[in-house]
Amino acid sequence: MADEAKPRIIVAERISESALARLQAAGEVVMLDRPDEEQLAAEVAQADALAVRTYVHVTARVIEAAKKGGRLKVIGRGGVGVDNIDVAAAAAAGIVVVNTPAASTHAVADLTVGLIIAVQRKIAEFDPRVRRGEFATLRSEAPQTLELRHQTLGVIGMGRIGRAVSERLHLGFGTRVIYYDIREIGYLPFAAEAQPSAEAVYANADIVTCHVPLTRLTRGMIGDAALSHFKPSAILINTSRGPVVQAEPLARALREGRIAGAGIDVFDPEPPPPDHPLLSAPNCVLTPHVAARSKEGIAAMNDVVDDIIAVLQGREPMYPVEPDPDA
Ligand code: NAD
Repeated sequence: MADEAKPRIIVAERISESALARLQAAGEVVMLDRPDEEQLAAEVAQADALAVRTYVHVTARVIEAAKKGGRLKVIGRGGVGVDNIDVAAAAAAGIVVVNTPAASTHAVADLTVGLIIAVQRKIAEFDPRVRRGEFATLRSEAPQTLELRHQTLGVIGMGRIGRAVSERLHLGFGTRVIYYDIREIGYLPFAAEAQPSAEAVYANADIVTCHVPLTRLTRGMIGDAALSHFKPSAILINTSRGPVVQAEPLARALREGRIAGAGIDVFDPEPPPPDHPLLSAPNCVLTPHVAARSKEGIAAMNDVVDDIIAVLQGREPMYPVEPDPDA
């Protein structure tokens, strides 16, 4: 086939060698390194497909440029959160958006459990102190946490990841699970008690864990007002999106002992600048947005290329994304 007849596929963030090879077999691949809005708008005007991950924003302006170009058929997001893509604008322009909804469920759930235990059992704090010779002093401190079987996990957003975390905690550790979700959640294969509001979860949980998408409703949902409901002994885990939690109010609540600890994988912005409030907050375990980064998780995210190719070849994609009215 002549090159000009091949679909032109923009890869705007790093993908694996094997995913790249699959795309190269299906078309002409143009690799970009996290282009800005202007560069991306210029590129999509002459492309048939676009692959992104977390950090490239496919804005209404980029979609408008693609629409004018008249070629772009599909935007693939390796991963689940589509807050970096204007899905409604894409749908209006007749451009299909695809993602990999379940790729990172288990990786994120695993890291969430790790953060819970790291915060409550002070693993990250103890490690450097043991190395500094404080072994005996640390052993003489009174324990401050109950075992997980005597605690209540509060899940905000009982979707794929919320469920996977709940399963691990309830079935593995015997933790009671309560949750709030904006949508009616049907049958769950483990015991979990729905709450009428997020506030009811904040007030009754020992561990609050956020698994919501970033939407206009969830942006900043955990700030001063939400934190005022938390038990002082409770901890907050955020492996969803940085802007869901307001950093300054959380840092203040940690400093003032209004909550006992936090485990944070996601920031606003990323990477967090040196003066980001959570970098100096006490009892806070931080990871660099790596919750999804298991070997299996990354491989499954790269499989978004298969849906991109399906759309280019006129087949039904496995995971089309519908516009979210709350986005
Ligand atoms: P999902 O769509 O299966 O679940 C999200 C749940 O949140 C749904 O049940 C939805 O009804 C609920 N929800 C939406 N708005 C709400 C609100 N205002 N209040 C309460 N509940 C609300 O998604 P998922 O696969 O479980 O992923 C959840 C999020 O985790 C993703 O959108 C993404 O932002 C984040 N994520 C982060 C990483 C990471 O590396 N840290 C990796 C994967 C996903």
